Amino acid sequence: MAERKVITDAQFRARICKALREVWQGTTRADFIRDIRRTNRGHTSYRFIVRCVDCDEEFGQSERRYGVKVDGSRTKKMKLAYQVDHVNGIHPLKTLDDLSQHAEDLFHGKQQILCLECHNKKTFKK
Ligand SMILES: [Zn+2]
Repeated sequence: MAERKVITDAQFRARICKALREVWQGTTRADFIRDIRRTNRGHTSYRFIVRCVDCDEEFGQSERRYGVKVDGSRTKKMKLAYQVDHVNGIHPLKTLDDLSQHAEDLFHGKQQILCLECHNKKTFKK
């Protein structure tokens, strides 16, 4: 008989976090982008444009770029040029008691568009 797999508390919470993020991406995050994007009337190949609230730079909705690491070097892979940031952060999931506040912040917290650079700045300021 196969040995029963035991996962740690931290692994369990990480899985819940990941699952919740996936739901968020398909619901609240997708709705938010659909609401704030605007139709691109310019010359680029992107149909929709979003704008970083901090630096005002504009990106195609599906535009991908290289990220910038803390040391200033470039990431290996390209990723989406912007992130949907939670303005007031998300309550960390340290125990299962944090779950409802964590989900509340994730799904109902105020969101904004930040480019990768501005998002990094915000993250490392904390
Ligand atoms: Zn920016």
